[in-house]
Amino acid sequence: MSGRHSKHDLESTRDDDALRDLEKKWTDSPARALRWHKDLDVRGLDCNSAPGYDGDKSDGEELVAAHADELSELQERLFADGRSGGTRSVLLILQGLDTAGKGGIVRHVVGLVDPQGVMHRAFGVPTAEEASHGYLWRIRNALPRPGYIGVFDRSHYEQVLVVRVDGLEPEETWRAHYDEINAFESELAAAGTTIVKVAMFVSKDEQKARLAERLDRPDKYWKYNPGDLKTRARFGDYLDAYQEMLERTSTDVAPWHVVPADKKWFARLAVTELLLGALRALDLGWPPADFDVEEQKTLLAES
Ligand code: ATP
Repeated sequence: MSGRHSKHDLESTRDDDALRDLEKKWTDSPARALRWHKDLDVRGLDCNSAPGYDGDKSDGEELVAAHADELSELQERLFADGRSGGTRSVLLILQGLDTAGKGGIVRHVVGLVDPQGVMHRAFGVPTAEEASHGYLWRIRNALPRPGYIGVFDRSHYEQVLVVRVDGLEPEETWRAHYDEINAFESELAAAGTTIVKVAMFVSKDEQKARLAERLDRPDKYWKYNPGDLKTRARFGDYLDAYQEMLERTSTDVAPWHVVPADKKWFARLAVTELLLGALRALDLGWPPADFDVEEQKTLLAES
């Protein structure tokens, strides 16, 4: 072998170097930098910060774009694994106050992978049928099947958030949900689901600006809900509820990640990296053929 590289080799080396430079803007692993810990009180969180990340908006957007192919390939491996009898799945749980950008995560991050492999569900006020069952009923019905990435836009956690803040259940009832949820999630994890929990935090000022934009733009009226002001009036109560949710339900099998969301680009980068980390950790190869490849080639050639 001569020491010379082909043009293609050189280009891909340059691409690899560029990717490594972009990845180095993370000063810590995203999962570690964003994971909730007991000294983190979200009531004092700087929602405009970018924990663990040193790059700017264009670096962040470039890294998301650069990781898109890997994210997409790993999702396909997961799907292939599910098709071949595997039991694994991933569940991304998104929680956040109005305007925190949950929808943007679904569009810009989850949208990077093949929609055929995604089971997305947004949870609103329970329907009459849902309300006639326990609160986990609709959650269980929406869980990702093996091979899928499930995405919950809001989730069972509403049962310790809006239900608490609006006093929809007595305190002793909603308080019991913390342990119930932990038990439910550990059962889920034991059955092969990797749970990625993301709590997104927008500041009160940024929320005001985002709501004002919705009122200024006819193409955004549809996103505005007058009820959001009622929720906004309880901003502090929600932060209390979020804080206790993090304290009570961040577990080893299903830890919470806290994502400051005033910078939309950072929130999208953060969730891309968390999802990528979860898929990488599955360490999935491609399933082997369950047929005789050579025989099929011969048969195909003869056909
Ligand atoms: P979003 O604000 O997430 O974009 P939206 O304004 O379009 O959503 P929906 O998706 O219809 O509204 O419903 C979201 C609302 O449903 C939120 O106000 C949320 O608090 C409420 N909700 C979700 N789960 C429950 C629950 N278990 N009990 C009561 N209210 C709930």
